[in-house]
Amino acid sequence: MSLPYSLLRWLCLIGLLTVMPSAWATEYPLVAEVATAGQPSQSLATDLNHKVVSRQDPVAEYVLRTAQGQWPTGPLVLLVNDSGMQWLTLQMPSGKLSRTRMLNRHPLAEIGYGDVAWLLDSVPAAGEPIRLTVDATDVTPASIRVRLVDLTSYLRDNGLWMAYVSACLAVMAAMALIALVFALFLRDMTFVWYAVYLVAYGWILAMQTGFLAAPLGLSFASQGAPPSGRIALVLAVVSAVLFLDRFASLVQYAPRFRRVLMVFAAAMVVAALLGLLPWADARGVGRALVNPLLVIGGPLLLLVALWAGLRGSKYAWVFVLGWTPLLTATVLSSLQGEGAPLHWYWWDEVQLAAGAFEALVLSIGLAQRAADTRKAHAQALRLAEIDPLTGLLNRRGWDNRMAVLERDGQAATLAMIFLDIDYFKSLNDERGHAAGDQILQIIASLMREELRDLDVLARMGGEEMVAALPGCSIRVALFIAERLRQRIEQRFVDDTALSGIRHPLTASFGVAQRLPLESLSQLMRRADQAMYAAKAQGRNRVCEAAE
Ligand code: GH3
Ligand code: MG
Ligand code: MG
Repeated sequence: MSLPYSLLRWLCLIGLLTVMPSAWATEYPLVAEVATAGQPSQSLATDLNHKVVSRQDPVAEYVLRTAQGQWPTGPLVLLVNDSGMQWLTLQMPSGKLSRTRMLNRHPLAEIGYGDVAWLLDSVPAAGEPIRLTVDATDVTPASIRVRLVDLTSYLRDNGLWMAYVSACLAVMAAMALIALVFALFLRDMTFVWYAVYLVAYGWILAMQTGFLAAPLGLSFASQGAPPSGRIALVLAVVSAVLFLDRFASLVQYAPRFRRVLMVFAAAMVVAALLGLLPWADARGVGRALVNPLLVIGGPLLLLVALWAGLRGSKYAWVFVLGWTPLLTATVLSSLQGEGAPLHWYWWDEVQLAAGAFEALVLSIGLAQRAADTRKAHAQALRLAEIDPLTGLLNRRGWDNRMAVLERDGQAATLAMIFLDIDYFKSLNDERGHAAGDQILQIIASLMREELRDLDVLARMGGEEMVAALPGCSIRVALFIAERLRQRIEQRFVDDTALSGIRHPLTASFGVAQRLPLESLSQLMRRADQAMYAAKAQGRNRVCEAAE
């Protein structure tokens, strides 16, 4: 099954899980009124746009009734979907259940699919309201939604929600682990910054959805966004900058923007440090800086990635693809938090899916990058073994290939042919070095044509070439050398470029077969000596090596 297909299937499953809870819950419609002292009550939908109400007064009390006037019988759960920042107090007519909750700050808050949840074990009498106080002092007031559902559907949907959040966070955690393993083996910091980013962002999502508070019960982490939330935010942005820098090779593709990003990351760290200081003034400055910097940060990263992508960085596009859904969801949910009337309450879940999607896309990109690096490395190794002029193996390539033949036991029966071009120096003098080079190329390709694929052929430097013929007897090797000699001789007979040279272009050959217990270097020396014997006997001939 192809990767894009399985990715698509995975995303469809997430989509289904996201819409299911809202489709399944048995919900009882509620009517809300604002109960502000001295003012006529104001009817509202159960989307309570708290921001509007709290312009002057951050504390608002809502009076909640069911649309039918009757409270349903049976155990019920009241759910408040909020930004996680407001303090919520629920007061039953009996005065019981008057408890104060906040998604992030109450270690014992009951949480149902990321909402603050109250189990109503006693139901008010007909017509009697429940009172909900929302206190947004010191925090950004956001629009909230109140829902009343029966306990059975709450439990079922919440189980599904838990599975969904766990799956998304598990994908991010697994990708972070894999990245760390890669970092360890490839010694590449890109993977480290990626893992830090995933862990920090996963932490933010787990905190934002209330997953850390319940079911994990990490009270130290859920005791309010600062400081662990702030540290995670800054870590996420800074590691994203450092990751993008290496992943998309900003030094090469966007050097100026890279400097802007680095300054931005440094400003982020300073603002966070100021926010963590004990002095009230500095804390205020830090707090006022962190959020605007964050809002600028996401789009800035995206812009830089787009720029680098347009300038030719292929991995920058992978970053853009992975980053865009999460950024869009984050910006829209922030806008809603700032009072934009979007009235949608699944941003956390969408951000989780977008986070998992981003983790997968960027991991695929990183794997691709690792494969590319390996390919480039292998190519560099190959090039280091090849003679650039003739394309034959060089001395180093020859040594490596012969070592492999020896190791695999293919060099036990082996013949070697050593070739040296005759009077090559004088040809160079008469026709120039470039013509000499061309002749070397022609002779190399003639040799390649005459030999088999399994034969090893190398240029040993200058105009000497050597061939190793595994499994060949001396008779066959002598025959092949003789055929080569004739081909070279004939090839240049009528070559007009060489007309009138002092010596016709030919080559001398030495041939040897491996003796029992003979080393490869001894064998080569004998072939070389045979070639010198051919020279001594007048050149343009094949000589068999003495044993
Ligand atoms: P002999 O018949 O005795 O082999 O005579 P020779 O002139 O070929 O002598 P020798 O093998 O000692 O000379 C090698 C010459 O090959 C020297 C140099 O000018 C030439 N040569 C070596 N490498 C290259 C090369 O890469 N390109 C060219 N054009 N010439 C080369
Ligand atoms: Mg020569
Ligand atoms: Mg020579």
